[in-house]
Amino acid sequence: MNQSNNEELKAFDKEHIWHPYTSMINPLPVFQVNKAEGVFLELADGRRIIDGMSSWWAVVHGYNHPVLNAALEKQLKKMSHVMFGGITHEPAVNLAKKLVAMTPASLQKVFFCDSGSVAVEVSMKMALQYWHAKGRGEKKEFLTIRNGYHGDTWNAMSVCDPVTGMHQIFHGSVPVRLFAEAPGCSFYQDFKEEYMDSMKEQLELHKDEIAAVILEPIVQGAGGMRFYSPEYLKRVRELCDEYDVLLILDEIATGFGRSGRLFACEHAAIEPDIMCLGKAITGGYMSFAATLATTEVALTISEGEPGVFMHGPTFMGNPLACAVANASIELLIQSDWEKRVAAIEQQLIKELQPASEYPGVEEVRVLGAIGVIEVKTPVDMARIQQRFVDEGVWVRPFGKLVYIMPPFVITKDELSTLTTALLKVVEEFYG
Ligand SMILES: *Cc1c(COP(=O)(O)O)cnc(C)c1O
Repeated sequence: MNQSNNEELKAFDKEHIWHPYTSMINPLPVFQVNKAEGVFLELADGRRIIDGMSSWWAVVHGYNHPVLNAALEKQLKKMSHVMFGGITHEPAVNLAKKLVAMTPASLQKVFFCDSGSVAVEVSMKMALQYWHAKGRGEKKEFLTIRNGYHGDTWNAMSVCDPVTGMHQIFHGSVPVRLFAEAPGCSFYQDFKEEYMDSMKEQLELHKDEIAAVILEPIVQGAGGMRFYSPEYLKRVRELCDEYDVLLILDEIATGFGRSGRLFACEHAAIEPDIMCLGKAITGGYMSFAATLATTEVALTISEGEPGVFMHGPTFMGNPLACAVANASIELLIQSDWEKRVAAIEQQLIKELQPASEYPGVEEVRVLGAIGVIEVKTPVDMARIQQRFVDEGVWVRPFGKLVYIMPPFVITKDELSTLTTALLKVVEEFYG
């Protein structure tokens, strides 16, 4: 495509297309990507920049991966889609087998969803139907913690952080949920029992109304990029049992190795009643997700009124998505992902450390293949994004958070290039 075509494309985009969280009057600039390969995005002008975002946690094996491409092509020739009502197929069964085998042992029943947000909606519906089936229909409230992020659909939004999720705009329309304080203890700090006070208080007050506690295990993603103590999560599990409340873990961002464990709940050695998966499940190839439940949750729902679980999207169990998810999980399991993520973690700790000395930087933190530089004042998105691209990297901050979670296949040198550019630009703005 020549230069004038690219200009025309961008002009049309600006006039007609909404991007995530953008204005139709004053949209942020967009960059045209024509190709992507490994850890590189190729821009319209031919420049190749290193992707520090894994396209929002998803592209763990890098772009245009021959194994994933082949899995899709193979499935494409058999069938790209078939309805899941009354029909099953090998890709779905193989994927469910893998998910049941790799997730905590108590999770035995798999519901395939279209996206992360839908997986969260499904998990919340499961919790409601569970208590309804038990004759405890009054348990229909949800408790979560501040700084969370669970997606953009209605009920997912209701359990996002009320401030960053802008609940006041939707007031009266989005259900008002119960919020406990965000965990007071970081991943690396010593746990104190008092950190549980807020969660305990909410459970004590509302146990008879609460269907489930829903939270992101260990890593709070888009709501604050914070890492909290495994001990906190362990105590939440105990409290849920004590107060007769289900525990939903949203592993959409953390699942499939990102935090250094296959699933972040493994840091705390606990098992949820319901788990949401998404993002990296297809290696970033397609929108796809899953909600897993224990046998107890699934059977209780099925024994109750109306005897079925009330959800069934048109594209449920899409064979193309299942096929590429199977290939991606296979690739992950057979790789030395644990070593790679540990190596990325060590390198990030070392190479991001200098940023903690910049006057405008609040904190630098790292867990698994996630590196965060929290700054003291919100970033100027348009300017900083352009500077990152000028320096040959794709980093997309939000608010006060400049962070990276590169594909696991990134080499040591590529990661150094990424962190060097990151530090250079952050120093310009916050040094
Ligand atoms: C991204 C995300 C979601 C929403 O997933 P979508 O695929 O964007 O709908 C939900 N929960 C967490 C923790 C996420 O990171």
